[in-house]
Amino acid sequence: MFENKDNAKSDIENLGEFGLIDHLTKNFKIKQKSTVKSIGDDAAVIASNSKKELVITTDMLLENVHFDLSYMPLKHLGYKAVVVNLSDVYAMNAEATQITVSIAVSNRFPIEALEELYAGITAAAEVYNVDVVGGDTTSSTTGLIISITALGTVSKGEAVYRDGAKEQDLLVVTGDLGAAYMGLQVLEREKQVFLVNPRSQPDLEPYSYLVGRQLKPEARNDMSGLLRELEVKPTSMIDISDGLSSEILHLCKNSKVGCNLYEEKIPLDPQVITVCEEFELDSTTIALSGGEDYELLFTIKMEDYPKIKGNPHLTVIGHMTKEEEGVHLITRANTKIPLIARGWNSFEKRD
Ligand code: ADP
Ligand code: MG
Repeated sequence: MFENKDNAKSDIENLGEFGLIDHLTKNFKIKQKSTVKSIGDDAAVIASNSKKELVITTDMLLENVHFDLSYMPLKHLGYKAVVVNLSDVYAMNAEATQITVSIAVSNRFPIEALEELYAGITAAAEVYNVDVVGGDTTSSTTGLIISITALGTVSKGEAVYRDGAKEQDLLVVTGDLGAAYMGLQVLEREKQVFLVNPRSQPDLEPYSYLVGRQLKPEARNDMSGLLRELEVKPTSMIDISDGLSSEILHLCKNSKVGCNLYEEKIPLDPQVITVCEEFELDSTTIALSGGEDYELLFTIKMEDYPKIKGNPHLTVIGHMTKEEEGVHLITRANTKIPLIARGWNSFEKRD
């Protein structure tokens, strides 16, 4: 049944993660009137009643692909697994309400380890006020797998999609970028030191913000309320899981616009700047490609600028242009370079 007669096999890495999703899902037809938004956004939107819509999203985390248990405590992993899902709900301008948790485990894990994982899941469910309403448990031969589905609600018509950005809209980001990736670099380095000298005691104090952003990220559940208070409705929105450049390209592709992103505007924590110097890495590249920041990236109408101006959580980093103008980074030296997706790609060949 699965024989391929002409023997043509295509490598997944040629398509990349997003190309693969497009390829596999392009033939799905929407049959239900209640499907308001299907594949292609941070979450799907389903009509519920005359006032509310349901939001649903799912993510899977695999050991040694998305996390490394040699420096990721299980409790943090449980917390993070919930947060990364809720982030997609918030990226729709929705409120998260329930999650289901599915795990595949090998007998390498004692019950106590799984209790730790669930302590993290419980903590996140508490902090973000969501109920754990189900899941599935199965065995794994390869490592730990966690798959979480998050549900949320949004008032009818209030969901914000990736495809609503218009030319001249301002591009806004919450918080700061690149810290989670630099936290990972620090943890990777300490792991290597530990492998050489198991008695070494890492001093992570100078890196506390970075390591915290990597091990215990938080999702922006505060933004939908803040924007409502400021009376700003974003025209498009996405969360930053793969890196700023990849997410900008998603907004541009879906909204059919171009973008000018200004390097000097990209918000960086001072610790990111100093540690990038220490690692001899370019902080802009890290902010563009690092990923796992779980901040929100959105566009607003230019006329809304006075409403967000000076807000410490929000930074205007660029503006949208005509699609034909393309997507560019305007560097500090005022040169214009095309933005390419260098986000995290789990299908990339590693050397
Ligand atoms: P995010 O990074 O926000 O989690 P993804 O890039 O994982 O989003 O997914 C983009 C879109 O593709 C989403 O609508 C998601 O539900 C959908 N998607 C991803 N993988 C699959 C799949 N294997 N089958 C069907 N839809 C998928
Ligand atoms: Mg997302």
